Amino acid sequence: MAETIFSKIIRKEIPAKIVFESDTVLAFHDIHPKAPVHILIIPKIEIPSAREINGREHAQLLGDLFDAANQIAEDFGVRENGFRLIFNCGPDGGQEVYHLHMHLLAGKKLGF
Ligand code: 5GP
Repeated sequence: MAETIFSKIIRKEIPAKIVFESDTVLAFHDIHPKAPVHILIIPKIEIPSAREINGREHAQLLGDLFDAANQIAEDFGVRENGFRLIFNCGPDGGQEVYHLHMHLLAGKKLGF
């Protein structure tokens, strides 16, 4: 699958408001926030969607994504009140960018 705009963000070829970076994970503000805090947390390797996730192969990477989410929630002061983590997957799941990403939404009481 062709690379996405997120690969360019990882390589710092286009700007993003980065809030967290490690060897395996990058996180930055969503360009169209749906909540007061809306961060995208992505693996640095290219995985198109959750459909390509295999527990045995990607366990460490998934742990890294969740560790990043908890760290970001702490940094933004929303860990105590709570937050929502979402992976949209495929067309019916509402996925637009085919580079695996976790949405972290917080900062207000979220409805469905
Ligand atoms: P999806 O619908 O694929 O789960 O979510 C993709 C998200 O990426 C959307 O919320 C969209 O606003 C965000 N997005 C798309 N292009 C860019 C971009 O170039 N920069 C940033 N920061 N966010 C983007």
